[in-house]
Amino acid sequence: MGSYRKIEAVVLNARDYGEAHKIVTLLSREMGKIDAVAKGVRKPKSRSRGAVQWLSLSRFELYEGRGLYTIIQGENLQRFTDIQEDLRKLAYASYLVEFLNEILPQGEASERVFFLLVATLHLLNSGNSEAMVSRMFEVKLLKILGYNPELDNCVSCNAPLKENEVLFSVALGGVLCPQCNNEDPSASRVNAGIIALWKKLATTDLKVFTRLKASSSHNNDLQRLVQEYVLYHLEKRLKSLKFLQEVENLYMV
Ligand SMILES: [Zn+2]
Repeated sequence: MGSYRKIEAVVLNARDYGEAHKIVTLLSREMGKIDAVAKGVRKPKSRSRGAVQWLSLSRFELYEGRGLYTIIQGENLQRFTDIQEDLRKLAYASYLVEFLNEILPQGEASERVFFLLVATLHLLNSGNSEAMVSRMFEVKLLKILGYNPELDNCVSCNAPLKENEVLFSVALGGVLCPQCNNEDPSASRVNAGIIALWKKLATTDLKVFTRLKASSSHNNDLQRLVQEYVLYHLEKRLKSLKFLQEVENLYMV
């Protein structure tokens, strides 16, 4: 026998299925990431239509039978319309959602990940710097999921780092002191300010996030570093990153 559940979730992905259905990937507060079938939601009269749109924050009633989830009812709570109507915000949101979807294992419940995503979408929707919001999301998510690199002491000999320029080893997962630079010949030279920004973003409370400032060059360097790090540990390339870069190029000319 199956069972019924009520959840609150953000729609990470929605694809058409059959004539009138959709399969959605949800990040829920209660059950983590799950896939569910939303039957008949593409019919004009469906009351759950708005709830299953991409990026919507919605409340769902699910039926679970033999490991399959079916959406019985959905009610939309928030649509983040400013993101949906702005190409640049949309590109960033697509990237963040894909990043989350790729990095998060199926069915692993984490309220902290859910609240981080919802807070991030609110920050993007209310006009905060897309680049800063994205960096914050990336480093906080890595931290919650246990991928946080060693940023205070040398990852090899544990010496505290005081230099203005440090080495960052993607493979070893942290910073290296000058004495240990032969531990990883592919480690890249990084300004200590970028490591400081990474630490600040990882630890700053979301409520005071808007007070954080960073130069766009630090922000770009941190993005490159985080992406290199994620790519190495996830062994995946994100499709939406290409789209995001295209949109960024469009805005630069
Ligand atoms: Zn060392």
